[in-house]
Amino acid sequence: MNSLKATYNKNETWTELKSLLKKEFGENLYNSWLSKLNIVSVSNNEIIMSVSTPFVKDWIMKEFLNGRKKIVNGEAVWIKKGIKQIFTEKYPNLQSFDIIVDKNQTINTEEVTYTNTNKVSSISEHQNLYAVRTELNPTYTFENFVVGSSNKLAYSVAKSIAESTDLGMSTNPFFTYGGMGLGKTHLLQAIAWKLKENNPKQQIIYLSAEKFMYLFIQALRNQDIMTFKARFANIDVLLIDDIHFIAGKESTQKEFLYTFNTLVNDNKKIILACDKSPNDLDGVDEILKSRISGGIIADVFAPDYETRLAITKKKAEIIGLGCEEKIYQYIAETITTNARDIDGALKKILLHQKFVNPELDLKTVKVLLKDLIKSVSRSVSIQSIQEAVAKHYKIKVEDILSKKRKANFVLPRQIAMSLSKLLTTKSLPEIGKKFGKNHATVIHSIKKVAELKQIDFEINQVIEKIAHKLGK
Ligand code: ADP
Ligand code: MG
Repeated sequence: MNSLKATYNKNETWTELKSLLKKEFGENLYNSWLSKLNIVSVSNNEIIMSVSTPFVKDWIMKEFLNGRKKIVNGEAVWIKKGIKQIFTEKYPNLQSFDIIVDKNQTINTEEVTYTNTNKVSSISEHQNLYAVRTELNPTYTFENFVVGSSNKLAYSVAKSIAESTDLGMSTNPFFTYGGMGLGKTHLLQAIAWKLKENNPKQQIIYLSAEKFMYLFIQALRNQDIMTFKARFANIDVLLIDDIHFIAGKESTQKEFLYTFNTLVNDNKKIILACDKSPNDLDGVDEILKSRISGGIIADVFAPDYETRLAITKKKAEIIGLGCEEKIYQYIAETITTNARDIDGALKKILLHQKFVNPELDLKTVKVLLKDLIKSVSRSVSIQSIQEAVAKHYKIKVEDILSKKRKANFVLPRQIAMSLSKLLTTKSLPEIGKKFGKNHATVIHSIKKVAELKQIDFEINQVIEKIAHKLGK
C-alpha cells in the first residue's frame, strides 16, 4: 500500500513544485497558465496533474513541457528548461508525468481536507458517474454511422451486442481498435444509446480510461475506494474508451482488472476501444490481454472512397449543410485520412456559408480547405516509402515485397514497414496488405526496428535520411 500512502503527501510536494515553476518561468507566465494546474497524485516515479479544459492542457503541453524559444503572451521568451526537466531534476526517479483534463475541476486541491467527509461527498456528486446521457454525443448513433468495408465487422458486432443478438460465441468483452478518427468512440456511444433505448433501466457507464483513472485516484485520495468498487460492481454494461491510456499505469490497471473480472463473472457486458491491437499494447498486463482475447476483437480501418462520400453526406446532413454533389465528391476525394478530418472540413464550410457567403461553389471550397488538405495530404503513401527504402538500399521494390529471407532484403523490408506505421495513418492490417504480409509480421518488424534503433546508431541515421527524403 506504499503507493497509496504516497498520494497523501502531495500537497507539500506540490507547493514545492509550484515555487520551482514560478522561479523558472516568472510570475507572469506562471499566473497566466501554470497556476491552472492542480495536483492529482504524486508517487516516487509518477506525477499526475490536472487542468479543467483540453485547451489549457494542450497549451501547457505545447508551450511548457520542453525548453526552447517560445512566443508566450505575445512576447518572445527563451525557456531553457521545460516542466519535464524541472521536475526530473527535483525527482530523479520520476519516469512519467501526465496532465489530465477534469471538466468538473473547480477545487483547488490544496484547500481540500481529505478527512472532511462533506467535501468528499460533494466531489463524488461532481463525478456525474451515472449521468450517462450528459456524457454521450446525441449524434453518435447507429443510424448516423456509415457502414463500409473498413468498419463492417466492428459495426456488426457492436450492433449485435446492442440488440443482444446471440452470435453463437462469446462477445464479452468486445474490443475494437484502429487509428484516430475512424469511428470507435461513435460506435461505443451508439451501443450505449441503443442499450439505453431498449432497456432504460439498465445501468450503463461510458467513460474514457483517463476518467476511470482519475475517479480511481480521487477515490484513493478520499479514502473512498469501497464506494468506487461498489459503483462499478453494480452496473450492467461498462464501456471504456481509449483503453490504451492505462498502459504503464500499474495501479489503475490492477483496479481495472478487478472491475473487469467482477463484471465478466457476473455476465455483464464490457466494451473497450483502443488505438492499438491487444498484441501491440505494451505496458499492459498479460492477464488483461488474455482476457481481452477471450472475447471478440474487431479493427476499423481508414474508409475507402465510397464510405468517405457517404460519411461526408451524412455529416453534412447532421450539421445542416447543403452543398452541390461535386463539393461532397471533392471532399471525399481529397480528405482520405479519416472521418474526423471530413467533419472538420464540413464545419469550416458551414461557417463560411453561414457568416460569409451562402452561395457556395467548388472554387470557394477549394480555397477554404487549402490548409486543411495540405496538412492531411502531408502523409506519404506506403508505395513511396517502399520506393525510397529500395532506392536507399539499392534493391528493387519487388525484393521488398517478396518472401525472400536474404538478410539484405529482410532489413529494408522491416524498415519500410516500420516507416509506414510512423508516416502514414494506415492500420497494421492495411500496411500488411501492401507488403503481402499479415499484421503480425508488421508488428514484428516494427518491434525489430525499434530494438535495432536502440543499439545501432547507423540505423537511426538511415531511417532519418529516408524520412527526410520523403519530406518528413
Ligand atoms: P475515434 O474514436 O476512432 O478516434 P470518433 O468516433 O471520435 O473516432 O470519430 C470521429 C468523427 O468521425 C466523429 O464525428 C464521428 O461521428 C465520425 N465518424 C467516424 N466514423 C464514422 C462513420 N463510419 N460514419 C459516420 N461518422 C463517422
Ligand atoms: Mg475516440
